[in-house]
Amino acid sequence: MSDTSTTLSLDALAADARVRVAACSSLADLEALKVELFGKKGAITAQLKSLGALAPDERKAAGARINAVRDEIGAAFEVRKSELDSIELERKLAAGRIDVTQPGRGQQPGGLHPVSRTRRRIETIFRNAGFSVEEGPEVEDDWHNFEALNIPANHPARAMHDTFYFPDGRLLRTHTSPVQVRAMLRDKPPLRMIMPGRVYRCDSDMTHTPMFHQVEGLVVDDGVSFANLKSVLHEFMQQYFERDLGIRFRPSYFPFTEPSAEVDIECVFCSGAGCRVCKQTGWLEVAGCGMVHPNVLRNVGIDPERYTGYAFGMGIERLTMLRYSVNDIRLYFENDLRFLRQFG
Ligand SMILES: [Zn+2]
Repeated sequence: MSDTSTTLSLDALAADARVRVAACSSLADLEALKVELFGKKGAITAQLKSLGALAPDERKAAGARINAVRDEIGAAFEVRKSELDSIELERKLAAGRIDVTQPGRGQQPGGLHPVSRTRRRIETIFRNAGFSVEEGPEVEDDWHNFEALNIPANHPARAMHDTFYFPDGRLLRTHTSPVQVRAMLRDKPPLRMIMPGRVYRCDSDMTHTPMFHQVEGLVVDDGVSFANLKSVLHEFMQQYFERDLGIRFRPSYFPFTEPSAEVDIECVFCSGAGCRVCKQTGWLEVAGCGMVHPNVLRNVGIDPERYTGYAFGMGIERLTMLRYSVNDIRLYFENDLRFLRQFG
């Protein structure tokens, strides 16, 4: 290979490379061209390799020319790369442009579920009356849910509970009462607490869902009487419904309280005059209650000769329905936003 042919092909190569670099329209094309020229089998690399075939006195000058061309083309690559980078940046900025003159999309503030609102309201009223708020497990064993509460196996009250059982004999709690069993086993009197939470029964219609919420109250101390129970529930109903409502206690039966009563309030819709909701009676049933059965106190190691206590239980959905005039309990759990937004 003569000096002249090297020079010619080198000049042609440089001219060709300059045109092609300038013509690259993307970073990927530019990178491919770089490999074609400077890669292992690249044209510039081949030029450098050809130096070995030259006579030593020619080699120096030829090497300097090749290096000059390599540097020049290398610089052309850098220039084109920065041009393509800024074109790419412009394109991204144009695509992501925010028109600050556009009107906003608006915000839809969320709200608490009506059952949560009611639960919080109940908790606040009782906290203000000196009650603590307790929680317990939803998966329970037979002893905490039934036995300890004076409901032995084969007791007819078990049939009313429509219990969900697990294969190992454990169950989904049918009421919040096992929480009072756990609290009484853990703490000694005086006890003054409410226990809100989910409970489960195999039942579903307009006024029953398989999962619902109860709040239970328990007070155990020296000299606690039925009169205390009546005044606490009366006060609670006044505060919850924000009005002076009549309240009455009807004798009833629960295995875990003795004596037991069901609690009615004056109908919140007709103020006692009689309407469809209260079935013309003027009263609405809202709670069950009674004095804690001595067997229950004994089961948790509290001396019924020394201490007495009262307990009450209410359905949170029931209280929510009465406060917001909802007539189908299932609406609470269908997650229909048209329903839920009304409580925002
Ligand atoms: Zn009524």
